[in-house]
Amino acid sequence: MNASALNFSRSGFDLILPIYRQRCSATPEYLADIAHTKRLLERWEGDDAFRELLQHSPSEATRRYGLQSDAEALRPVWDAKFDQSTPDLAECVKRHRAFVGEKMAHREELRRTSKPLSPNFHAWRTRQMARTTSQLGAVRAHGIVHPLAAFELSKGCSVGCWFCGVSAPKLGDIWEYNDAHRGLWRDVCQVWREEIGPASEQAFLYWATDPIDNPDYEKFACDFHELCGYFPQTTTALPLRDVERTKRLLRLSEERGCLLNRFSLLTLKILDRVHEAFSPEEMTFVELVLQIRKETLSKAVAGRTLEKALKTGVTDYQAGTIACISGFLVSMVDRSVRLISPCPASERWPLGYQIFGEGTFNTAEEFRTVLQRLTSPEVMPSTVNWQRRVGLRRDLSWQVGERGLTVSSTFLHQTFGGLDGEALEKLGQLLAQGDLSAEQVALQVGADLPTVFLTLNQMLAVGVLDEEPEYQHAGV
Ligand code: SF4
Repeated sequence: MNASALNFSRSGFDLILPIYRQRCSATPEYLADIAHTKRLLERWEGDDAFRELLQHSPSEATRRYGLQSDAEALRPVWDAKFDQSTPDLAECVKRHRAFVGEKMAHREELRRTSKPLSPNFHAWRTRQMARTTSQLGAVRAHGIVHPLAAFELSKGCSVGCWFCGVSAPKLGDIWEYNDAHRGLWRDVCQVWREEIGPASEQAFLYWATDPIDNPDYEKFACDFHELCGYFPQTTTALPLRDVERTKRLLRLSEERGCLLNRFSLLTLKILDRVHEAFSPEEMTFVELVLQIRKETLSKAVAGRTLEKALKTGVTDYQAGTIACISGFLVSMVDRSVRLISPCPASERWPLGYQIFGEGTFNTAEEFRTVLQRLTSPEVMPSTVNWQRRVGLRRDLSWQVGERGLTVSSTFLHQTFGGLDGEALEKLGQLLAQGDLSAEQVALQVGADLPTVFLTLNQMLAVGVLDEEPEYQHAGV
């Protein structure tokens, strides 16, 4: 959905404004309306007792919890039984829906328009996005934006969530902002911008780490903003460690144009304290990721959650991932780079991402060399190499029907034509076999060679050919 396609209007009382990127277009009253609706919904999502009371007595629920929004008017957004075809929705409902629509449109825009300078990288990222849709299903996959990089500024994480989807180790080294590190960091940002172009802004400064663990996080973020063009989004599970610092960070981030930050909250008690410490207005552009439910299967099954499910003998789970980047995971502590992309967690990829290559650097120029190697056609081919092994992804089945060769995952069917039925049958068999080079496959299919390669390249472009790396890092 394009933001401009959203239905904003200024007629009479039906005042719906785009506020996500044009905050000054709305009055404080308008923003407060959005903020208080959001607060009610956070309480609704995280607090069973509130949800129950709200069902029976909306006015009593808002009074008891000190909420200022009109819960009855907001019924269409929290009551699953509400008749959504009702024509007259309250203005607060329309405003809230427009705001959510803007956020979703922006997320989709980032998925679609973040285009690195390297055509290899662009084609590779596009097909990783297609592959994740096929492997995770459209609903889960569309929640993944596929930013181009994550830079870690410490080693491990002090929060220690039992469910950590990336199995973050205990907090170790913190990369401080001293003169030497400042110089290297700024040079790395510069190289990142030069190699990737304007899309370099689609990165953030944490991974299996919490940004707040690094006392100099804000300084690194300001450098990134200055050199790469965007103040990186912050997600923290530690908003209460130093409330004044968090508030300063939110203000700094907003002043510098960052659109959204996130708090990840682990318990109802923490939600209570966050609601006490931060006003609804301060939280308008801070999403809450509520991890309050304790059951293993309410989390993405990856990392420690996967370990726990396997240990306790739970079998009816659908493997997931919290990984979101299709690009570079850079540790400034280890000076390492890994090329990664999300996948359902498995024994082979327990952290929910595949690793396609890696390198190390000591200087910014060495960082450039690693980036150039990992974006080369060797690592990111944009067409099928006739000498290389070619096969279908192992999670796919195939069959030939009237419309062509259909390959299917649990979630998606994709059909390829262009060849006659007999040739497609042969192609399906050889790709499922998966042990021949593209040249051998093309010759054995026995059809027009350019057409076979065209079909193979179409299959590569939408992520159905097996690119799962042979490579596996020793530490994973
Ligand atoms: S989920 Fe996030 S906050 Fe929790 S341990 Fe992992 S990295 Fe840290």
